[in-house]
Amino acid sequence: MTRIAFIGLGIMGSPMAVHLARAGHDVVGFNRTPEKTAPLVAAGGRAAPSVREAVRGAEVVMTMLPDSPDVEEVLGGDDGVLAHAERGALLVDFSTIRPDVTQDLAGRARERGLAFLDAPVSGGEAGAKDAALSIMVGGEPADFAAARPLLDVVGKTVVHVGPSGSGQTVKAANQLMVAAHIQALAEATVFLEAYGVDVDAAFEVLGGGLAGSKVLTQKKANMRDRSFDPGFRLQLHHKDLGIVQAAAREAGVITPVGALVGQLVGSLVAQGHGTLDHSALLKGVEQLSGR
Ligand code: NAD
Repeated sequence: MTRIAFIGLGIMGSPMAVHLARAGHDVVGFNRTPEKTAPLVAAGGRAAPSVREAVRGAEVVMTMLPDSPDVEEVLGGDDGVLAHAERGALLVDFSTIRPDVTQDLAGRARERGLAFLDAPVSGGEAGAKDAALSIMVGGEPADFAAARPLLDVVGKTVVHVGPSGSGQTVKAANQLMVAAHIQALAEATVFLEAYGVDVDAAFEVLGGGLAGSKVLTQKKANMRDRSFDPGFRLQLHHKDLGIVQAAAREAGVITPVGALVGQLVGSLVAQGHGTLDHSALLKGVEQLSGR
């Protein structure tokens, strides 16, 4: 049994913390909105009133927060994890944030005698609920080996991809691919509907060919039903496509599709749709098509 602090119990963090508690670990959760600790407590975990209390005595500290400034605050703030974690603790950040911010935090953690892994995930809310996430991990091999049994509780495909920051770089590539797939699915949906084709039949047969994908399997019903409850919020995907563009520019790599989808996502966010699921890219295609 490992004593775990889990900070950030939202759409992804809550089911992940629940799985860890059900696996027999002593999980203490903290969330800015305290009500969100309820599922963890119901699963046998505990709720803490602050970061400081959550990390007291924790061997492993996990974070699943929205964006880089949130992770910087929770980890690096005056009353944050770096200030209060037990010496020798292992920090595992599942959030999707900028690779340079991750590397900075990992360095500061090391100075305090703490280990740090960046471990962003893919698989969406369904993957978190089913404990079937893909987890891309950056950091020291020994720290990865130590974390592996816990990562296997919440993930199905768990891979050490390189040194600190590599997990975030791989996740940025993931977000580029997923955004492009969702945009293509949105365009195909509106196109098929314009021709009066039965989209269920169309996607059944397309799913058996080269166009088959998890994006198609998980998002086709959202598009058909115009049901855009998150899921993965457009504003988070907007954040991720910003990370992709900045990192690609830094490396001198040109990513035109990523730039275009970033603009399309940004347009929906600017119109107040940022809290909808990213399958709401369909709305943009309808607008552009006058439908
Ligand atoms: P969310 O907004 O549902 O959850 C984030 C949680 O963090 C919220 O409960 C919020 O109250 C809490 N929080 C924010 N600031 C805090 C602070 N300072 N102290 C304590 N708690 C704080 O977001 P999510 O969808 O769970 O996403 C979390 C991360 O996972 C993001 O980086 C996102 O990009 C990534 N991600 C999301 C999905 C998805 O499908 N939703 C999939 C893969 C990765």
